[in-house]
Amino acid sequence: MRLTDAEAAPYSIDRTSNGTLGSGSAATGGATGARSGVDPGRKSNGPPAGTLNPGHSAGVTVRVIRDTAVSNWVKNLYHYACQVCDYVLDLPVGKYAEGAHIRALGTPHDGPDTVDNMLCLCPTHHLLLDKGAIFISDTFDVHDHHGNYVSVLTRKPQHLIDLAHIQYHRAASGL
Ligand SMILES: [Zn+2]
Repeated sequence: MRLTDAEAAPYSIDRTSNGTLGSGSAATGGATGARSGVDPGRKSNGPPAGTLNPGHSAGVTVRVIRDTAVSNWVKNLYHYACQVCDYVLDLPVGKYAEGAHIRALGTPHDGPDTVDNMLCLCPTHHLLLDKGAIFISDTFDVHDHHGNYVSVLTRKPQHLIDLAHIQYHRAASGL
């Protein structure tokens, strides 16, 4: 069984977020900040006490239904190699990559779940793309948000990436 066939855990978009991964809980710090993987920037004199018996709370999430055939097609095309860094995560259960939408799904971006809006990325570059830390030029060069060159996006002729989505991503990231 390949982990990748199950697709990365579908990310939920809570109602307070702007549609980017995990941003809704970033500002709350503490446990939610840790869970979202975002450094809350909190200054303290010691480590947080944590919770010995973490409870579970019910929350309202909005999930975008995605077509795994679309992400599987893109991931298979690149043999699970990240289009930014070419790295393949070779896990004991199989290769792992993520189908990353250039123009984010869901409100307010409402990007399409289509191959021309999707990249095969490693989890790191997926996060950096979602957070606007990297962006893609009209000539498919990848830069970071400081303007530093990162790489040339790896592309296959069969994979027609819509420049409009790349331009939307730059604009939405303020780049
Ligand atoms: Zn990568």
